Amino acid sequence: MRYYSLNNHHHFVDFKEATLQGQAPDGGLYYPENIPVWNDDFIKNLKRKSKLEIGFDIMAPYVGNTIPEKELYGIIEETLDFDFPLQPISENIYSLELFHGPTLAFKDVGARFLSRCMGFFAGKLAQKIVVLVATSGDTGGAVADAFHNIPGTEVIILYPSGKVSPVQEKQLTALGGNIHALEIEGDFDDCQKLVKMAFLDEELKENILLTSSNSINVARWLPQQIYYALAMMQWEHDHEPVVAVPSGNFGNLCAGVVAKQSGLPIGHFMAACNANNAFTSYINTGTYHPTSAIPTLSNAMDVGNPSNFARILAIFQQDHRMLRETISSIAVSDTDTLNTIKAVFEEFQYVLDPHAAVAYRALNEYFINQPERKGFILGTAHPVKFPDVVKTAIGHEPVVPKVLVELMKKSKTAQLIPPKYTSFKAATLEILKNR
Ligand SMILES: *Cc1c(COP(=O)(O)O)cnc(C)c1O
Repeated sequence: MRYYSLNNHHHFVDFKEATLQGQAPDGGLYYPENIPVWNDDFIKNLKRKSKLEIGFDIMAPYVGNTIPEKELYGIIEETLDFDFPLQPISENIYSLELFHGPTLAFKDVGARFLSRCMGFFAGKLAQKIVVLVATSGDTGGAVADAFHNIPGTEVIILYPSGKVSPVQEKQLTALGGNIHALEIEGDFDDCQKLVKMAFLDEELKENILLTSSNSINVARWLPQQIYYALAMMQWEHDHEPVVAVPSGNFGNLCAGVVAKQSGLPIGHFMAACNANNAFTSYINTGTYHPTSAIPTLSNAMDVGNPSNFARILAIFQQDHRMLRETISSIAVSDTDTLNTIKAVFEEFQYVLDPHAAVAYRALNEYFINQPERKGFILGTAHPVKFPDVVKTAIGHEPVVPKVLVELMKKSKTAQLIPPKYTSFKAATLEILKNR
């Protein structure tokens, strides 16, 4: 499989290059040259296959010959090393729980696949791979956990001091080894600015391969298809499900749509958004007006200009009418998010996190006029990651799982630095010198 830049359809790279670069040199997103079509047997035999076979069969064409089969199988095994249950909530809505991984969010899947691929490629490179991540919370934790102890890689995480939750901070700062946390005396934008400057710094890049691990990387994006197939493995109804995806940068939704294009029998998608509703407006009006982000209770979806929008357009060849046949979108307010967490808890004793609540609300609304349909939401994070919101809604915090109790006992190691490039660079060079 080759990948081209959505900014230049003549610029091709293989999976290895696309993964190591993250983004094309022209700033475009990499996109697969063709979307594989799974044969009928793959779909018919889904229920008889193992989770690992499904993962392998989906990813093998995308990886091509850049990773040998045996190694790829090992990577898939480590990527899917937890459960993906499809839990019933109401009569017609299920939740595909994607939060049973090490950092309790769906980002574990993409981050684990990416880290293992980079680790494999690192073994063949003369330089060390240095991953730079600016995080406002969740991404950094998933990346840190995924890369911990992956040989040939160092991870430097920048996070805004005092602006991440206590759990998130522990996930960034308690691992040690090849994971290094820089606590920036500034906000998330300051962290992002420092990372951007680092990528332009030729001196810094002299002896290392500097790369990012954000969600536009194909090795984070594409493996997210696997759990849509794992959901269909568990789907017992005759009708194709409607799938509601709580969306921010739209990587998750985009992966689902690609899986449907390959033949996965999903009936329709609901792009569930919060007040950041540029995509919802686009679906309903055909015009796209990206904005700056508005803070909400479902903060991992606070994105004003979704980075995967160009990929969604590419899937449908910019045809708005075709896009609407496959994707609907509803925007949900914070008030309705809280009311949904409360109502679902009272009626079904199921605790939704704020992101899943947005999806539940949107899907429920969609079903009002078609009560015979059924579907599932993606449970993108464990409710315990948002204890304050959950407490506001239902009066108490969710039960803390054992992995978190253990994590909170560990100690924090982070270097506090001012939001200045010279300070950041000095700290980075010092870290790399000692490794
Ligand atoms: C990142 C994230 C999202 C948004 O996913 P995208 O792929 O960016 O659309 C939704 N929910 C949670 C909990 C997240 O961490």
